[in-house]
Order: sequence, then structure tokens, then C-alpha cells
Amino acid sequence: MNLVEEKIPIVAIIGRPNVGKSALFNRLIGQRKAIVERTSGTTRDRLYAQISWRGKLFALVDTGGLDLLSSHRISKAVKEQASVAIAEAEIILFVCEAKDGIVGLDREIALLLRKSSKQIFLVVNKADNATLSEGAVDFYQLGLGKPYPISAMHGLGIGELLDEIAANLSGSGARSSKDAAIKVAIVGRPNVGKSSFLNCLLNEKRVIVDELPGTTRDAIDTRFRKDEVDFLLIDTAGIRHLRKIKNVVDIYGVSQARASIKRCDVCLVLIDGTEGVQRDDLGILKIVFGEGKGCVMAVNKWDLVKGSTTEKYERAVRATVPFARFVPVVFTSALTGKNVLAAVDVVKKTAEYHSTIISTGELNREIGAIWKAHPPPLRYGTKEIKLRYATQVSTKPPNFLIFVNDSKAIKKSYVRYLEGRLRESFGLVGTSLRIRFTQKKK
Ligand code: GDP
Repeated sequence: MNLVEEKIPIVAIIGRPNVGKSALFNRLIGQRKAIVERTSGTTRDRLYAQISWRGKLFALVDTGGLDLLSSHRISKAVKEQASVAIAEAEIILFVCEAKDGIVGLDREIALLLRKSSKQIFLVVNKADNATLSEGAVDFYQLGLGKPYPISAMHGLGIGELLDEIAANLSGSGARSSKDAAIKVAIVGRPNVGKSSFLNCLLNEKRVIVDELPGTTRDAIDTRFRKDEVDFLLIDTAGIRHLRKIKNVVDIYGVSQARASIKRCDVCLVLIDGTEGVQRDDLGILKIVFGEGKGCVMAVNKWDLVKGSTTEKYERAVRATVPFARFVPVVFTSALTGKNVLAAVDVVKKTAEYHSTIISTGELNREIGAIWKAHPPPLRYGTKEIKLRYATQVSTKPPNFLIFVNDSKAIKKSYVRYLEGRLRESFGLVGTSLRIRFTQKKK
């Protein structure tokens, strides 16, 4: 069987010897159904495996055999391997390793890869612990974008890597437009109007609901499309089911909400406008931020609220949830349909902020300026805290790592201050943010 002829997209693993390419190959094929075949080419042995992940099919190719070459021939062979991958693969997994850091040959390969138009995933293997994993940010230097720290040996970071590969594949077997959907969870206390909101949304003529039978996962979620944007409503069956059972006993509760929240990008947290923000609402909001999600608050049943204005009401809501200052608030009625579609537009905007990527240059300029104007306060007898370098290590939510000379001297209040300023600078509304300080030397 020849996978190449069947036009299954190819994902190639390349890298210098001993970085763990075969370990990664084996880990990626893992428990999944794989067809492995060894083809003896004229110049090298290649290992193929067919992988299906999140409904996408691709052929994983490992170009082995290099480890046996004498050292002076390795450089040439590795570069040749990279050229072959550039020619035939859709995605290239360029494997480096965390313990050695960047070596000369890595730079040479990176140079070749940067010139190609292929999608490159920079995989930093042997990131067996948190320190090594954090150190992977150094690999940004290779100019190939975000490094993916993994441990092929311990199975760390593999699921995320496969998710990213699947999300970026095109071609046969791909369902890219579907997989790019914004995942939304509608959550809230019983009776706030979740199922009414859902029904109202799905019955709206300007929304196209995708009723195609999907995988088991899709079956409990609902796809819809508005203005050319795809959304996936998480756990819609769960919300519908509630209506029937809630008079008996509320089994939905926080644990079910937590499961839906975990799977989404953005949570639409419904509040009952006639009751205002209650303790359980605060609990739900805290889970949303704890899980690092985007958040939009909808004050529902707005048709029943008398004697207030949206401005007044919003002020009251914000005073009750100071930790959610940056969250957009919309006023909806699932009964009349007012603002239900507008809430979806706000969710879309929030999803964009949630997946923001800020370039290292821009980030350092901004943090540098904030720092200069308001450096972190010093305790008596401590020396000046120096800012070295900041970088965004991941997104969904935006996650920043800041290198300083003394990370322990940074107080929580300063982290909050910086967060507020970064939100202002980059207009990051409605998304969680992560900011961590480290003093690890670069
Ligand atoms: P869930 O438990 O959060 O799914 O809440 P439901 O959608 O079952 O709604 C609870 C009750 O509130 C039902 O009687 C709905 O008809 C009513 N309801 C929901 N949304 C609105 C709204 O915007 N305005 C009014 N007036 N009633 C609503």
C-alpha cells in the first residue's frame, strides 16, 4: 500500500540524530490504529504510519537510519532529509531537544525550513519536567514560531501536538472548516433560561444549524454558522435534557457545568436579570477563569426587568464581580429573541481575543514601556528588579512568560497591574490571561 499515492496529507518528522524522532513517531502512533510499513528506498529507510485523529487522516513519515552514519556525513544527510520533507510533506515536525538546547545543526536545518513555505511545528522533545518545558521558549530564536515542548518518553504534550496537527491539515480527510469552529458553552444556574436561549438561537433564521450526524462527540454538540463563522455549541443535549428533569432534581449542577466549560473556548454565562448575580453565578464565573476561558455575561430575561437601565444594571453587575471587570455584558431576552444574535457576535469577538498572538517584539516594547513608567515596587533592602525579556508562550488563553532577575520579588498586585495594562494596550476584552514571572537565565 502506498499512502503517498492515495493523497493522504503527509506529516514528516525530521531532526538531527538522537533528539528522539523515533520515540516521537512511536508515541504519536501510540494506541491508535496505525499501518506501519518499512519501505527500503534507494537512499534511506522510511517508516510510514497512517493516523486518524479528530476525524482527520494523515500519514506520518519518519526518516530513520541517520543515527548510524559517521559524524561527518550526518550534517549532509540531515539536510537532505529536510529537503525531501519540504518537497513532499504538508506539515513538518522539526524535532529539537530541550536538554542540549539549540545546536549548530539545528540552526542550519531551521534556515532551510524558514525558506520553505511549508507549515513547520517546532517540537522540543525531552522536556521531561516543568523547568525544561519552560526553557523551550528559548527555541523561539530559531525563527520558526512557537515551540511545542513535549516528552515523547513520558507522553507529555502529545495530545496537544496532535490537536494542532489535525487542526492545520488540509486536503483529503480534512474537515478544517468544521474544526476551526468556535466552541461555545452556554452555562448558568437552573432556570436562568439556557434551554430557551438555545432554542431561540437555533430557531433563528439567520443561523444555519448543521444537523449532519457526526462522531459521538459531535452528537451531543450542535454546529451552527452565522455570517460565515462556524460555532460549536458544547453539550446541547445536556442543556435540552435539563428542561425535562429540573423539576425533579437539579443534577446539572456545577460539575456538569465544569465539564462543558473545560471543552469550550468561550463561555456564555447566563444570569437571571430578575434575580441579579447570585453566589452560584460567582462560582461558575470563577471556574471559567480558572480554566482560562473566554467569557461573556448575558443578563437574560431582560424583558422582565423594570425600573433599571442597562448602564445602571451593568454597573451593579461589575460591582458584584470585580474579578470579571474585563468581561463584556449583554442584555438578552430568550423569550423575545432580543440580543440573542448580538450575544453571538460578542462571543465571536471574545474568541478572537482568547486566541490572540502578540509578537515578541511588540510584547517587549509594551511591557518595557509599562515597566519603565511603573516598575514593580521594592521591599526594604531588596535590589532593583530588572526586566530581561518577555514572550508569549501559548494562546487560548494568551499566556505570557516574563524573565526577570528576581521573580520572587514580584508581588501579586503588580501582576494584576500589569495584566490590566496589557489588556488596555492590546484591547484584550473578555478573555482570561496568564502572566508568569521566572528568573531562569536565558
Ligand atoms: P434553564 O434551566 O437555564 O435551561 O432555563 P429555561 O430555559 O428552562 O427557562 C426557565 C424559565 O424561564 C422558563 O419558564 C422560560 O420560559 C423562562 N425564560 C427563559 N428566558 C426568558 C426570558 O428571556 N424572558 C422571560 N420572560 N422568560 C424567560
